[in-house]
Amino acid sequence: MKKLSIVVPCYNEEECLPLFYEKTGEVVAQMPIETEFVFVDDGSTDGTLRILRELSAKDKRVKYVSFSRNFGKEAGLYAGLKHTTGDFVSVMDADLQDPPDLLPKMYEILTSGEDYDCVASRRTTRKNEPKVRSAFARLFYKLINKMTDTEIMDGARDFRMMTRRMTDAILSLPERERFSKELFSWVGFKTKWLDYENIERAKGQTKWSFKKLTKYAVGGIESATPALLKINLVFFALFFLACIGFVIADIVLAATGQYVNFLFILLPILFFCVSALFFGIFVLGEYVKKIFLQVRGRALYIEKETEQTRPKGE
Ligand code: UDP
Ligand code: MG
Repeated sequence: MKKLSIVVPCYNEEECLPLFYEKTGEVVAQMPIETEFVFVDDGSTDGTLRILRELSAKDKRVKYVSFSRNFGKEAGLYAGLKHTTGDFVSVMDADLQDPPDLLPKMYEILTSGEDYDCVASRRTTRKNEPKVRSAFARLFYKLINKMTDTEIMDGARDFRMMTRRMTDAILSLPERERFSKELFSWVGFKTKWLDYENIERAKGQTKWSFKKLTKYAVGGIESATPALLKINLVFFALFFLACIGFVIADIVLAATGQYVNFLFILLPILFFCVSALFFGIFVLGEYVKKIFLQVRGRALYIEKETEQTRPKGE
């Protein structure tokens, strides 16, 4: 029988964990597949680890990894994925905001023979979320999609089910600054999106303050692409155009025999110098970009299939 691994990053989730375990347990019991839970305790300061110890003692499907301190959800996801052994791998939050009821449908789609390697979930609404937060989230998706080649779906959750080959592709990316939303899309593979309405977390509080979220968004863009470096080109263009504007104005003034204020001579020289500086920084940025991409060390391509791994019967 095939096996499904469910990765669950947990940070101070003592209230949610028993609910999550019970609800998800009920759903997977109905599925024609073996299950393994991989909980990652991300340095919780409440009773999360105690609960995980208890669960793993009474249920051999439960594995857990406990961190020495809080390392953040990305580290939790990576550790969880690394410890999975299933043919299919699912990622879920502990707070039941990711409805376990979708798991059977996800599994069905992955095994339907339609060549899907991932079934991911997307919130269609942002109701119950502060308006400012939603506006910033939308802006973030617009920006990051403008700057990267791959599409990052607005409202996409980390909640998804993937095949082993897609999971391995994600684990093969060696970078340290991980932004999973982009990694999931960068590795490619055919993904099916399931829409659902936003669900409130079962118990406890969100771990994301506005400040933490902003840091996550900016950090995400920085990890995903070196495109922000292009800002220097914009500044170069602005100062250079301003310089040209002044030069033209000076010529017109001089040609029509009018008095040219010394500021009108000084400013274009100053603007030219500043634009030259920005151009220099832009060129430097182009090399920094190459170093960034080289150091990040992602694969040149990701193999989906060869004649050796071709699905049987095709
Ligand atoms: N989480 C984590 N480490 C952290 C913050 C959060 O492992 O530093 C986990 C958390 O326990 C939950 C998931 O990541 O299972 C999503 O967190 P949360 O529900 O607070 O985020 P939101 O749903 O509000 O985006
Ligand atoms: Mg949540």
